[in-house]
Amino acid sequence: MSTAKKPVIFCDFDGTITNSDNIVAIMKHFQPAGCEAIMHDIVNGHTSIREGVGAMFALMPSAQKDVIISYVLGQAGIREGFARFLDYVREQDIEFFVTSGGIDFFIDPLLEPFDIPQDHVYCNGANFSGNHIEITWPHTCQEPCTNDCGMCKTTVIRQYPAEQYERILIGDSLTDFEGAKIADLVYSRSHLTLKCQELGVPHVPFETFDEIIKDLKQKQEQGVL
Ligand SMILES: [Mg+2]
Ligand SMILES: [Zn+2]
Repeated sequence: MSTAKKPVIFCDFDGTITNSDNIVAIMKHFQPAGCEAIMHDIVNGHTSIREGVGAMFALMPSAQKDVIISYVLGQAGIREGFARFLDYVREQDIEFFVTSGGIDFFIDPLLEPFDIPQDHVYCNGANFSGNHIEITWPHTCQEPCTNDCGMCKTTVIRQYPAEQYERILIGDSLTDFEGAKIADLVYSRSHLTLKCQELGVPHVPFETFDEIIKDLKQKQEQGVL
């Protein structure tokens, strides 16, 4: 690395490491009564992500735990090039974090083959001990974020000051946008690409992790990273 700043990567999980969003898949498949209205409220910004996701899972009985987990693991696919990308960042000694608004009960098993240290995975938890599923939030917003994110990506990113780190964000959705605004380099797909275009935030669109490897290599060769 030619820059004095140390690169650090913050990578979204749902729709980024996996091909599609697992919470959406769970809700579409099990359709707990009332979840559609909550989904609308989240999309319209009438309810926060934390409140909305918590409320949707609270509609589902804890007894469904095993069927939910086997459903989500059965349908989730890992995006092309992810294993090669991890090899690359390890070889380059680039620090890599998963920053996800998803839940540990599907993230941990899906990431299991990739040997990512547990303290490099930021996500939400779930408690199945009550009648209904309770989502737990170990990484909530800290100042100055007041979005009630649930898992607050900008709070995690801010632990790595811009003066010392080249902060690289990889993501796909609107929930990645606040992070994208403070990152030095953004790899985007889907809604995040549109939002970055709309508001003029610099970004590099991608579909596979191989494309990100290629772009990072180019930037290293050009001496901009
Ligand atoms: Mg996502
Ligand atoms: Zn937040």
